[in-house]
Amino acid sequence: MAGEPQDDCLFCKIVAGRIPATVVRETDTTLAFRDINPQAPTHVLVIPKAHHKDAAALAAAAPDVAADVLRETQAVAEEEKLDSYRIVFNTGSGAGQTVWHAHAHVLGGRGLQWPPG
Ligand code: 5GP
Ligand code: ZN
Repeated sequence: MAGEPQDDCLFCKIVAGRIPATVVRETDTTLAFRDINPQAPTHVLVIPKAHHKDAAALAAAAPDVAADVLRETQAVAEEEKLDSYRIVFNTGSGAGQTVWHAHAHVLGGRGLQWPPG
């Protein structure tokens, strides 16, 4: 069922505390933690605590939580003192998605190329 924890999902395990993560922010509906393989000086993932496979599924099933995720990306950027940053939702394997639990990447702390690769 949409939103239910998945036994085989890495980010559900992080939400449950079964895999450690460096958490930077937490709300009732979201968790923000540092990416294990950072691509920029600041690289934080913001996820819904509920399981949705990607950003599109999250927006369709729980638009209020999608808004919470977006609001938290701003809070992370402010805490990390980023004046410029990028929010990325890789959606689909061809776009680089490797974890099938919706997540926003917050990237900053260096110049960012546009367009991205
Ligand atoms: P995607 O490629 O799906 O857009 O992003 C998944 C992200 O999760 C990658 O940037 C990857 O480095 C990160 N990641 C994968 N495994 C772990 C983990 O165990 N802990 C943390 N903190 N990040 C992870
Ligand atoms: Zn999950």
